[in-house]
Amino acid sequence: MPTSADLHRRRSAAVARGVSSMIPSYVSSASGGTMTDVDGREWIDFAAGIAVTNVGNAAPAVVAAVREQVARFTHTCFMIAPYEQYVAVCEELAALTPGDFEKRSALFNSGAEAVENAVKIARHATGRQAIVVFDHAYHGRTNLTMALTAKVMPYKQGFGPFAGEIYRMPMSYPLRDGRSGADAAAFAIGQIEKYVGAVNVAAVLIEPVQGEGGFVVPAPGFLPALAAWCRQTGALFVADEIQTGFCRTGAWFASEHEGVEPDLITTAKGIAGGLPLAAVTGRAEIMDAVHPGGLGGTYGGNPIACAAALASIGMMRELDLAAAARHIEAVARPRLEALAAKHPPIGEVRGRGAMLALELVVPGSIEPDPQATAAVAKAAHESGLLLLTCGTYGNVIRLLPPLVITDDELDRGLSLLEQAFESLTR
Ligand SMILES: *Cc1c(COP(=O)(O)O)cnc(C)c1O
Repeated sequence: MPTSADLHRRRSAAVARGVSSMIPSYVSSASGGTMTDVDGREWIDFAAGIAVTNVGNAAPAVVAAVREQVARFTHTCFMIAPYEQYVAVCEELAALTPGDFEKRSALFNSGAEAVENAVKIARHATGRQAIVVFDHAYHGRTNLTMALTAKVMPYKQGFGPFAGEIYRMPMSYPLRDGRSGADAAAFAIGQIEKYVGAVNVAAVLIEPVQGEGGFVVPAPGFLPALAAWCRQTGALFVADEIQTGFCRTGAWFASEHEGVEPDLITTAKGIAGGLPLAAVTGRAEIMDAVHPGGLGGTYGGNPIACAAALASIGMMRELDLAAAARHIEAVARPRLEALAAKHPPIGEVRGRGAMLALELVVPGSIEPDPQATAAVAKAAHESGLLLLTCGTYGNVIRLLPPLVITDDELDRGLSLLEQAFESLTR
């Protein structure tokens, strides 16, 4: 088998530089909460492929469902010859997403594509054009979703011009704005009314807990106030639950923590145990405002991806992976709080369920410290812990373990994280 060094040489000559990798090791296999590289080294997985393998890598039930489906038929295109698996995934989405009203779904391949389609649907259904997004937001890398995403480097630099009618508003960010949820919402709503005009807003699009932007959990009351304003003014409240969905935060969807029932929800990442699938789910009358043929795509809702999604959702239900996410928080949060008490650069421990973060600052201030963050991540990687960073300022360490991670793996991973912080003070 080629070594990681061999593969790196081949990669440099064949793979575009714009696609980069966090670690220099190449994967040979992965299961549950661990990964093995081609050099025979084992890693503890605190990344889950960016909150994708919530049910674990190569989960046996997913593998079996994929095997069974791939041998029956691989693709027909749902727009040509439909099949049950697509319908069944849409039924599950209607049952699992918040809101006890009639819903419809449409399936796509990637999160960005789901967000693009949510914007299309919101504009069509409301007859309005403006889309409100927030500071630190991440919604994808296609042209429209780059415009929705906040951070320029690396996501947008040199890739403009961007799509129009996108308006960015201040986000509730308790560590940095010091505002209550109600105050932060009143401020953002004031800005929307002044600079966009309530009658022009098709949708307010928000991640209930921000992902790439830094695992920012808005102050309580922020999301419900925005949703209420949408209801009053005829704008749609769209929750981007691509990273927070499918049990990650200790509930099926993060909107549930504050009793918010979005008009539209975008999902992807955790939906199908690693196979590419995404969805827009929403109120029937909004979704069905679009004419037949107005939504779709060649691969959207591919039968193999749908079979994987049905198996993954089955696992989430049977193993109660929302409870597993709460258990991960119960184990990890006290260890992270203790770590923060010991290491002054940790300015805040935050997150929900198995979506936890440490924000690193210059001690005694809220000035971001991306250097220390990078150093901790590097030390973690050197010790065999797959650990991601995020944040507009590049100063947030995030934990996204698979929800099936064992207590022993979780303990080993947290110990490696603690050691990585020790190396910072050395
Ligand atoms: C990852 C992500 C996206 C984009 O999904 P892709 O599948 O990478 O296109 C959009 N929104 C959020 C919140 C995400 O975390």
